[in-house]
Amino acid sequence: MEAKQMDLQSQETVRLYNKDSHRKEFEATVISCEEKPIVKGGESGYWIVLDQTAFFPEGGGQPGDVGWLDDKEVADTREKNGIVCHETKEPLEPGRKVKGRLNFEVRFDRMQQHTGEHIISGLVHNLYGYDNVGFHLGDEITTLDFNGELTKEQVQDLELRANRGVFENVPVQVLYPTKDQLKQVNYRSKIEIDGQIRIVSIPGYDICACCAPHVDRSGEIGLIKIIACERHRGGCRMTILCGFRALADYQKKQRSVTEISVALSAKPEKIGEAMLHLKEQQNSTREQLNRLQERYLQQRLEGLGAGERNVCIFEKELDNIAARSFVNSAMEKCEGVCGAFIGTDEDGYHYILGSRTVDLRVFSKALNDKFQGKGGGKPQMVQGSLAGIKEKIQDMIMGA
Ligand SMILES: [Zn+2]
Repeated sequence: MEAKQMDLQSQETVRLYNKDSHRKEFEATVISCEEKPIVKGGESGYWIVLDQTAFFPEGGGQPGDVGWLDDKEVADTREKNGIVCHETKEPLEPGRKVKGRLNFEVRFDRMQQHTGEHIISGLVHNLYGYDNVGFHLGDEITTLDFNGELTKEQVQDLELRANRGVFENVPVQVLYPTKDQLKQVNYRSKIEIDGQIRIVSIPGYDICACCAPHVDRSGEIGLIKIIACERHRGGCRMTILCGFRALADYQKKQRSVTEISVALSAKPEKIGEAMLHLKEQQNSTREQLNRLQERYLQQRLEGLGAGERNVCIFEKELDNIAARSFVNSAMEKCEGVCGAFIGTDEDGYHYILGSRTVDLRVFSKALNDKFQGKGGGKPQMVQGSLAGIKEKIQDMIMGA
């Protein structure tokens, strides 16, 4: 028994996903169970080796599968020296027969993204000669890096062609060509691989060396949506969503469009226009408000008695620029301290002070000390904030 186990352990795991990428369940025998070395900040766990598995170990840009071995959760799957290791929290004794179950929702979603990526990368390679030099299949988005730039029009055209490939429902073939056969094949490959090469072919769209499981036919990918394409390191980085992810994105965006459409009372296809119109209206309202504030402050300034030394106004709401211009004008008229206080006794005040004769750095320090304020500036002009009662603040300004 022991000898047999040793023998099995030295053999590569039989990979059921290579024959059937849609296999969700399988039976297997536990070959070994090793405690996982704890990396800094990591959790403890075990690496389980089986005689055969449908779990795909991380590779080719696709993350390792998750699922269950009996009732034990598999958090990740990795490959070490040709052996597939399943990461579990609890141990499983060697020799035990287990039932493996994939979290197929996660796997299928990843296959949709990955096969979609192959179609796009194949098209970019065939049409523009650029290579895919980076691929990241994340939980939310998938990014593809190309060593050449693409225009907006090219990206739109690519999206259309890629989806045509989906609707044509072409078979996704997995091939194991001999060295001689391989010489005849023009395929994309990121790295030189020793030994048997696994080719994933999507006739008319892509031929690429890849170790990961893919959907059986392109129709399974569903919608391929390019949501961004930006310049990146002399080439571009494209962000794509395929299948259910693209659908979820459409639903999310439709909700936003509907909300905006209702709020603006505009048809969904007109919300851009309506939003621009609203912004214009907002700008002209702001300008109108500024003009009114200026007129109002001008009137207050005219109401000041001639020869008054200090002056200050209190307003609940006032534009900062208008307040500053009031202080500037008041300084021309009055010799002492001129101030504008914006806010309320409850919420505190923002203030601007100006003076031709009083050193405001000294004065504002005393003011801030008395009213728990802060701020500063030049001797002729300071600004800051404080908390206090209007009358008390006024007393101090008038006594300056
Ligand atoms: Zn691939």
